Amino acid sequence: MFLKGKRALITGSTSGIGLAVARALHAEGADVILNGFGDEAEIAALREEMGADYSGANLLDSGAIEAMMAEVGTVDILVNNAGMQHVAPVDEFPPEKWEQVIGLNLTAPFHTTRLAVPGMKERGWGRIINTASAHSLTASPFKSAYNASKHGIAGFTKTIALELAQTGVTANCISPGYVWTPLIEGQIPDTMKARGLTRDEVINDVLLAKQPTKKFVQPAEIGALAVFLCREEAGNVTGANWSIDGGWTAE
Ligand code: NAD
Repeated sequence: MFLKGKRALITGSTSGIGLAVARALHAEGADVILNGFGDEAEIAALREEMGADYSGANLLDSGAIEAMMAEVGTVDILVNNAGMQHVAPVDEFPPEKWEQVIGLNLTAPFHTTRLAVPGMKERGWGRIINTASAHSLTASPFKSAYNASKHGIAGFTKTIALELAQTGVTANCISPGYVWTPLIEGQIPDTMKARGLTRDEVINDVLLAKQPTKKFVQPAEIGALAVFLCREEAGNVTGANWSIDGGWTAE
């Protein structure tokens, strides 16, 4: 319970990876603040399970982010995790989808970070963990906005790590390969269309083809890595991009 007394805001934590990270931080004693969309009753159950606060802020709206950060108050651990995908060839990529993907995956973390950092500096301790992706290190076709946003968040993370290096605040990326969550499930139909493949072919020949282990990463494995990054022993781990991708980016 080494995180007792620490407050952790995890964006996009009503589902998938963010939820697993929230559970892992809660298990170590952190006071958790959930964020994201979803069914009201399911969110109420998650809040009860973790004794968590909750903000339903839409992170595509910078005003809503400012209101959320003011309402939440102290944030010792900021996990910028909410993200979205859109799959289409660049010449058919809807400009409004480009804006949304960049807005949620890259611009929202800028706003939460700029608003959380002053308090972290004041207290001389903080952890900023950005869920990037294997796509922060490599690319796949038909994901121009996503790849641009994830390469962007990796560069942003390195920059803030340097700026905060002497403040007790670390900033790192976690870069998963394919994790079986609603985000992955949701892109299967578009990938089928873009590549002219069946559902099984997309899973085995596109998604798992990338991962030498031939296994999806488990959300709880990402939670465990986030917990490590919050430890005192990780105080010198900053500006890093942690792959957890079954060997994908080793190739
Ligand atoms: P998910 O779809 O299961 O969860 C996304 C979360 O973000 C949900 O809680 C959702 O409500 C929230 N969200 C969506 N739009 C929002 C908005 N406008 N404002 C606030 N919250 C919003 O996705 P996931 O697979 O758990 O992905 C989480 C992160 O991990 C993303 O940044 C994604 O890019 C990254 N990632 C996922 C995988 C994967 O294979 N699933 C791989 C690499 C990186």
